[in-house]
Amino acid sequence: MSKAGMNMETVRYQNRALILDYINSKGPVSRTDIAAASGLTAASVTLITTRLLAEGILKETGTTIGTGAGRRRVLLDIDASAAYVLAVNIEPKDTVVAVCDLKGNVPEGPGSEPLLRTVPTDRDSAPETFLAELCKVCKELQSKLSSAQKKRLECVSIGITGLVDVRNAVSVHAYGVWDRPVDLKAAFSSRLGLPVIVENNVDAFATAEQMYGVGRARSDLLIIKWGPGVGSTVIIDGVIYKGRQGKAAELGHYIIDPAGKKCNCGRRGCLETYVSYSALNEIMPFEPDDFESAYLAADPQTRAKIDSAIDLFARCIVNTGTMIAPSRTILAGNLFRGSAIREKLISACTALDGTYNAESIIYTPLSGREAYVGPAAVFAQKKLLEDSLTEG
Ligand SMILES: [Zn+2]
Repeated sequence: MSKAGMNMETVRYQNRALILDYINSKGPVSRTDIAAASGLTAASVTLITTRLLAEGILKETGTTIGTGAGRRRVLLDIDASAAYVLAVNIEPKDTVVAVCDLKGNVPEGPGSEPLLRTVPTDRDSAPETFLAELCKVCKELQSKLSSAQKKRLECVSIGITGLVDVRNAVSVHAYGVWDRPVDLKAAFSSRLGLPVIVENNVDAFATAEQMYGVGRARSDLLIIKWGPGVGSTVIIDGVIYKGRQGKAAELGHYIIDPAGKKCNCGRRGCLETYVSYSALNEIMPFEPDDFESAYLAADPQTRAKIDSAIDLFARCIVNTGTMIAPSRTILAGNLFRGSAIREKLISACTALDGTYNAESIIYTPLSGREAYVGPAAVFAQKKLLEDSLTEG
């Protein structure tokens, strides 16, 4: 193809992504709304949306009364059932496997049972043994799909803790899960016959905030996941900032005391050595999902110790905010599930900096879907906004 031809193609797909991005964040919307917001001509919008309707990615969801001439306008939205993904989220304690649609929701299988399974992460066996087991779970879910859904199952998307090689779909170092690189693509693609994509679990969750959550309206975000360790991701101008080797935004590894306890990152006295699930368990025994009730039932001395740990956490959050000035800080993870814990953290931040309040630090609106929505969003983002060049 000529260079001019390539450029035309590129522009066409950029416009397609622009339109899908707008519909994803504001839909359902009319073609007139899309033209006004995107700056594209009405003719371009009609051409592209007609093609997306034919592909089944968009659907018509009714009509609205337009202004002026009072014409009825057709509303367009993403058709969530246009594609499905096997979302796999591997964390030190549990691994979740779910079938998800393009909006990150889990469809129901036969007997209205959600197509989602939670299995304990097997850290004792060889990684390949555990991954073979996960593929069996994937196949079991696959078998529950209708034939129409099976045809639209396009990908296995994996979220995993630690460092990942996104290009080759390899887990480089999944801290707390495996101590060596693991080729996830090899393990899943041969058994399931689907393309495999991999992302760090917290970055995947940040993608979900961009696609389905707060990120749809806010471009600069600090996302903090608490439990079992501390994970964080920074979104700047709508893009996840990864830094060298994907090591950016490791808030859990801010050094609090250079002479402190050894951290699993190799340094000493990191924030995680004070506030990780295992560190807090030394102060007060609790299950990850019952942190709040254990905290509220604890004696005053124990609570004071937990409070000092939360104060350290708040200091790291406020210092990070000084550097990146996020429009919002989003809290996720099971240790933040209790409102008393979040209120304690927010008041600790406010005590350090009066601009912090319950508006600027919020609990993720995706809390009920945290276990699987990240890898689902990574797939949806690729399908809708990135990989278009390989189509058409
Ligand atoms: Zn560390």
